[in-house]
Amino acid sequence: MPHTTQKVIAITGASSGIGLATAKLLAQSGAKLVIGARRADRIDAAAEGLRRDGADVISCSLDVTDRASVSAFVSQAVERFGQLDVLVNNAGIAPISALDDLNVDEWDAMIDVNLRGPLYGIAAALPIFRQQGSGHVINIVSTAGLVLAPHMAVYAATKNALRTIGEGLRLESGPDLRVTNVSPGFVQTEFASSIADETVRSAIEKRMGEIGLSADSIAQTVAFAINQPSDVEVGDIVIRPAAQN
Ligand code: NDP
Repeated sequence: MPHTTQKVIAITGASSGIGLATAKLLAQSGAKLVIGARRADRIDAAAEGLRRDGADVISCSLDVTDRASVSAFVSQAVERFGQLDVLVNNAGIAPISALDDLNVDEWDAMIDVNLRGPLYGIAAALPIFRQQGSGHVINIVSTAGLVLAPHMAVYAATKNALRTIGEGLRLESGPDLRVTNVSPGFVQTEFASSIADETVRSAIEKRMGEIGLSADSIAQTVAFAINQPSDVEVGDIVIRPAAQN
């Protein structure tokens, strides 16, 4: 992947799943990385593993619901590597449930992590991109916002809102800022672990186990968008298991 080499890429939520797989793939191609998540032990271990393989990676404790934390995370790229080429807004949660269960705290949490988090990332990255005269925002969205299923209303709403933010950013930006929305279907990760309802969680985990893609497939998709020549913007990619409706 020659185009990725030398790029400085910040990835939120890289302690597991899609974010970690993306960090590994991009590190192999020579990118310099800033990776963040709340679980300090996991994100530090991930960075340590990548450094052992020769990659230039720093890890940060990051909570995307905290604007100052996101700002400090993004600043690390410039402080350590002198630039930021790509922000991957990947961190996300899905404590899904029926609306009638009134799990309002979980609705708030999804809005904070899945929507406010990427917005804080955009707020931190845009001034850097403007000053550099180039940049790329990649949002990890979801097919849940494209085809609705029961229990998914709030989660899907946050992802559709993020898709809209991405499209708005693209429309307002000149050719020096690229915006990509990647919408995965089922992917085999720890993603369902936050679902409190045992019946809903086991149904999702069963489906993930049966048809879920590897996180590596999503990492390849992110790398594809990054590796295009600078005048090529990959706008929206839907990547789901062939067996998913
Ligand atoms: P994981 O649960 O494996 O990864 C989620 C990541 O987000 C973790 O690294 C977690 O780290 C991080 N995270 C959660 N909350 C915060 C926070 N407040 N601040 C910083 N980091 C946070 O699941 P996936 O890899 O599957 O999820 C990645 C993205 O992919 C999400 O946006 C999700 O919506 C999306 N997606 C996933 C699909 C799937 O089927 N798996 C399908 C479609 C989209 P930590 O807990 O250490 O903070």
